[in-house]
Amino acid sequence: MRKDPHVIELPKKVIVGRGVLKRIPLVIKDLKLGRKIHVVTGPNVFKILNKVIDEVLNESDFEYEVSLVKSSNVGDVREVWDEVRVRTPDVIIGLGGGKSIDAAKYVSAELGIPFISVPTTASHDGIASPFASIRGLEKVTSVMAKPPVAVIADLDVISNAPKRLLISGAGDLLGKLTAVLDWRLAHRLKGEYYGDYSAQLALLSAKHVITSADVISAGGVESASIIIEGLVSSSVAMCIAGSSRPGSGSEHLFSHALDIVANHPALHGEQVAVGTIMMSYLHGRNWRKIKDTLKRIGLPTTAKELGVKDVDIIEALTMAHKIRPERYTILGDTGLTYEAAEALARRTGVIE
Ligand SMILES: [Zn+2]
Repeated sequence: MRKDPHVIELPKKVIVGRGVLKRIPLVIKDLKLGRKIHVVTGPNVFKILNKVIDEVLNESDFEYEVSLVKSSNVGDVREVWDEVRVRTPDVIIGLGGGKSIDAAKYVSAELGIPFISVPTTASHDGIASPFASIRGLEKVTSVMAKPPVAVIADLDVISNAPKRLLISGAGDLLGKLTAVLDWRLAHRLKGEYYGDYSAQLALLSAKHVITSADVISAGGVESASIIIEGLVSSSVAMCIAGSSRPGSGSEHLFSHALDIVANHPALHGEQVAVGTIMMSYLHGRNWRKIKDTLKRIGLPTTAKELGVKDVDIIEALTMAHKIRPERYTILGDTGLTYEAAEALARRTGVIE
């Protein structure tokens, strides 16, 4: 059942374009967030962008400090949390790829300070979603936080990041195809709340990746803008649903399981992409079309391309249903046997 009342929190401003880093001060002023800013970023991104950030924030009479987040492990995130808590800023800026955005989002929700997401890569849909992935908490999946008050995606910066990161974002988006099928199944079988509007919105971002596969594979600004818009849409779908259901199903459970079995062997979106092939086979859908799309984009489709052993894939498949038992998917309550998992991976060409 849908919660009553159903409260939807969304980002207030989303700015996507070339050179939009410069607009950070304007957005902060427009949203009347204050002038004491705390930037949460990674050491590498800081090395590249510290001059730009300094210029942008200094000229506008802001006071700012920076916390460098080493990893998304809970210990490192707690360090950032302590630094931010002592300083009590008006607004937190998460600047970077996955770990900085996740850390900023988590700390912001815990301390009740608004947060602006400034992604430097388009590798996954955490950039605008209300969920944070922190390693080392009791849960391996993401935890509920709050969506950013604003998303500022500079296409010049994002298109300059390694192409592998960009197309990983496309992989995360394709995962919505099976996430939505799993959600419908849980609705029919378990009576779980299902929202068709948010489901359709998530699906739209995946379908857009299929029709734009060639543009995406070319990389560059246009590719980055397609992926960013898709990632923002699917994040908004999760905000509307009030859960990660429209964006995360059995393909994500497979990816989380592979993280455990093989210690984060590839990028999140790459693992989700391979999971999507196999889960659409289980759903009786056109998995070949998904595989072709992945190939056209340049995403991995096999164990070898993910850099894992065949047995890792099989093991991850057999344990995926246990990752988040309350999330019912095509894997069912009991999951796959070793033989069924092996057959699935072989038939879809993920293992040889
Ligand atoms: Zn994802």
